[in-house]
Amino acid sequence: MDRALQLLKDLIAVDSVNTSLVPGAAGEAAVALTIAEAMRAIGLTVETQDAAPGRPNVVGTLEGRVPGRSLMFCGHIDTVGVTGMTAPFDPVERNGRIYGRGSQDMKSGLAAMIDVARVLAESGGLAAGKLVIACVVDEEHSSIGADALVTRWRADAAVVTEPTDLQIAIAHKGFEWVEVETEGVAAHGSRPREGRDAIRLMARVLAGLDALDQRLQARSSHPLLGTASLHASLIEGGRELSSYPDRCHLQMERRTIPGEAPGIAAREVDELLTRLRADDPEFKGAGKEMFARSPYEIGASHELPQAMLRALRTSAPVAPDAPALIGMSFWTDAAILGDAGIPSILFGPTGAGLHSVEEWVDAQSVLQCRDALVNLSRDWCR
Ligand SMILES: [Zn+2]
Repeated sequence: MDRALQLLKDLIAVDSVNTSLVPGAAGEAAVALTIAEAMRAIGLTVETQDAAPGRPNVVGTLEGRVPGRSLMFCGHIDTVGVTGMTAPFDPVERNGRIYGRGSQDMKSGLAAMIDVARVLAESGGLAAGKLVIACVVDEEHSSIGADALVTRWRADAAVVTEPTDLQIAIAHKGFEWVEVETEGVAAHGSRPREGRDAIRLMARVLAGLDALDQRLQARSSHPLLGTASLHASLIEGGRELSSYPDRCHLQMERRTIPGEAPGIAAREVDELLTRLRADDPEFKGAGKEMFARSPYEIGASHELPQAMLRALRTSAPVAPDAPALIGMSFWTDAAILGDAGIPSILFGPTGAGLHSVEEWVDAQSVLQCRDALVNLSRDWCR
């Protein structure tokens, strides 16, 4: 069996469910050891970096014979939970597919990128420059791994090997989370003059958000990502049936596209609340940003995606269509690398069922991904 696929199976077999997502889960420490061992066996220099206690990033480097440009591969070693799966850590191969938690997202990308270093090392090494294989924790929760990585490691370019069906992703959306609280006055349900209904005050906020979302989606769309959007994610309020609710709490998400300034969601909510206060001086409500991650984009004509296109075309045939430059709807660690000044793209294997009860990756695509990344390394690191 190809070494990349053996490594993929070894990685699936080690539980690495994210402890921030699933309290009491295994976490990344054990899989980090497996990865460090695999990288040392290839001959890489291996360093670890605790992003949090017991949650290590593992970074392997392969130095070229002479100085030159560096290339980073980056992948996350955590997975989402396994509720409802029958054998999540038992890597089964069937009809050209490998099943198991993390098979697609993204132990296949990890296995491919680590195996690039093996292929290079076994074929005389890297002529010039440096290859950095960065395996990071916690992408499925808040990416403390990638945040820590960029404080210590840099490269002239990076490929995040999330699953892209062997397409090259050059853009993805960002997101901003905002919480809104409306304040009413608690009173006995029979006394309307004394009470003020915080939930109905929130209805005005929701109506404003509804109109805002329609405006966002009516704007001209990004060619790869479509438009920005928002949705109300979580809401709670009230204490019992027979009382006026004194508070209502909303948590919402705004998806952003490249070109939108950081903090835009909180500013839009502030504008809405200001308008509602102008309409009704008794309206009381406040908004606050909870967490945000920026969108990402690299130009299609940038040297990196063009080099990746070349590398893909000259590797094993990519069926059925020609490779294309695409956008991805979901956020990835590429934005953190990009914000740190590292030009980045996403490129990874083909599969399905990520975050669901039946997850698989196409075995052949893992090898095609590896082979294309070998070509890219030889082309870029000079
Ligand atoms: Zn992922």
